[in-house]
Amino acid sequence: MKIRLIGKNLEELKAVADEAGLPGFAARQIADWLYRKKVRDISAMTNISKAGRDALESKYEVGAILPSECVSSSDGTKKYLFPVTCSHGNVFAEGGERMEDGAVEAVMIPEDDRKTLCVSSQSGCRMGCRFCMTGRQGFHGHLSAADIISQFVAVDEADGLTNAVFMGMGEPLDNYGNVMKAMEILTAPWGFAWSPKRITLSTIGVIPVLKRFLDESRCHLAVSLHNPFGDERQELMPVQKAYPITDVVELIRRYDFSGQRRVSFEYTMFMGYNDSKRHADALARLLKGLECRVNLIRFHKIPDFPYDTIPDELMEQFRKRLNASGIVTTIRASRGEDILAACGMLAGKHE
Ligand code: SF4
Repeated sequence: MKIRLIGKNLEELKAVADEAGLPGFAARQIADWLYRKKVRDISAMTNISKAGRDALESKYEVGAILPSECVSSSDGTKKYLFPVTCSHGNVFAEGGERMEDGAVEAVMIPEDDRKTLCVSSQSGCRMGCRFCMTGRQGFHGHLSAADIISQFVAVDEADGLTNAVFMGMGEPLDNYGNVMKAMEILTAPWGFAWSPKRITLSTIGVIPVLKRFLDESRCHLAVSLHNPFGDERQELMPVQKAYPITDVVELIRRYDFSGQRRVSFEYTMFMGYNDSKRHADALARLLKGLECRVNLIRFHKIPDFPYDTIPDELMEQFRKRLNASGIVTTIRASRGEDILAACGMLAGKHE
């Protein structure tokens, strides 16, 4: 089986070029073909000599995974399904664990002049949040940087993407090395050359790794909060036991979010669970003085789950109460619900 070039950083590409007998600058040329021009074959890298391409092809391939299916929502959102049984065999060949089955999904969300890609970092998830379809399917494996970057180069909108959110399947901080490598490729001048401001990582708050992320990255952060009371939060989010939300917020307070970097808190509203004035006031107290934003998210009903979707007017009341307490709060428009692409609905399955 050939080795995949996609997902390699400049240092690794230099080693590849060296081994193939190519001049030093060829690594940047290969990176340009992979990440700017997004070619699918080494033969398309035409500024590399024919002999050089042949040398590369004897051992390597571009290796992007292509989507097996794409469904479009009536609101323009598109959901892509990336299969695991592709021509590269095990998609976790490079540094990941072997995936058992299933597939991963990426969702493209158009809005005004933006095209945001919501990417997956794992197949399934081991965090077990009870409201999440991904969590319910269990854990199948980490995605390699190659698999994550494939989502960016293989969607139809690859050349027009403006933003990325690591909010698809999986907890990105549970696959930190591969996610950070993908972010390096996205932000490096030799890679996609995106500003870190275009990228948001969403986490439920795995504190030790979150600290590393805050220290090592300049990308935005979104934290899935969902309930300001520890005992109630733990009912739906087992992570609360190991990493209480109060400790997560305390850690975040040590970092500067008054400049370019932003932190937001995701708050999915469940009828009768976290929608009271008591919750709004506790949430405001928890976040008081922190430069942040709260995004209220409408819950999408899933089977065998005790809580229901909340009416819009109750959400609006909750938003107003938080705003009145000085917490900037918005209601996130629901996107792609009809194709099971909205928050918490990704399961990597066709049905
Ligand atoms: Fe995993 Fe995120 Fe779903 Fe929780 S909400 S189970 S962390 S994918």
